[in-house]
Parts: sequence; C-alpha cells; structure tokens
Amino acid sequence: MALKVNGSNKYNFLIEKAREAEKNAYSPYSGFNVGAALLCKDGTVYSGCNIENIAYGPSNCAERTAIFKAVSEGQKEFVAIAITGNFDDPDAQKSEVFASPCGTCRQVMAEFCDGDFLIILANLKGQVKEYRLKDLLPEAFNPFKE
Ligand SMILES: [Zn+2]
Repeated sequence: MALKVNGSNKYNFLIEKAREAEKNAYSPYSGFNVGAALLCKDGTVYSGCNIENIAYGPSNCAERTAIFKAVSEGQKEFVAIAITGNFDDPDAQKSEVFASPCGTCRQVMAEFCDGDFLIILANLKGQVKEYRLKDLLPEAFNPFKE
C-alpha cells in the first residue's frame, strides 16, 4: 500500500533528477527506459539508468546503478530514491506507468537502508507513489540483522 498518491512532493527535485537519468538509459532489448536518483544522508544525489546487455544477465537496473555509484564513492547512508520509467518509443509510452523496483534492487536497498528508506515512484501524469522499503520488501533476507 502506497503511503501517498498525489502530484506534489517535497522530493520533486529527486524525481526531476530521475527523469534526467532516464534519458541516458541503454535499453535496446526491452525498450523500457528507467531513471533513478538516490538521495544520500549528506544531501548528495547519485543518479542511474538501466543498462542492458545482449546477454541479458549482465544488465543492470537504474536503481542499482545509482546505489553502486554512491557506494563506490564512499556513501552508505541513504534517505530516499526516486524512480521513473517508460517505454522508449513515444508512441508506446503510457502516462500511468510506474517503474517499481525489481526484487533484486529491493534486496540491494535492504543491504544499505533500513525499513524506513523512502521509495518514490513517479509517472508521466505527474502522479507520485511513496513506499517504505519495509513495505516493498517485508522479511528481507539478512540473517545477520536482528
Ligand atoms: Zn532492479
């Protein structure tokens, strides 16, 4: 259940960054472009896009691109991530589409973020859905955490 569904959001700047990153998506196989923007605790924002591969397996999602960029720069504390996505072909775009994070990305988020980590989805209609990680990945695998 989304925390909130509407058009105005204090994280609109993050949604805009995700939309910018979406333009860099490399998605010749799915034709679906995704952008993500990750807000670090210190205010830094790292963006990412999906990067597909002809062998499919090596493909990487926008969310993990952003998280891996941030971690590789020494960041490990995150507040929120905004995710946008739609079909590359303008004729195929659907204004209601939300790009919800896949299971692998949810697990990667759980590696670094607590359950209150905010996940913001925005579509082309200007609608926004917000979730907490604990709602999108209850009972995340981590036998080392209490
Ligand atoms: Zn993913």
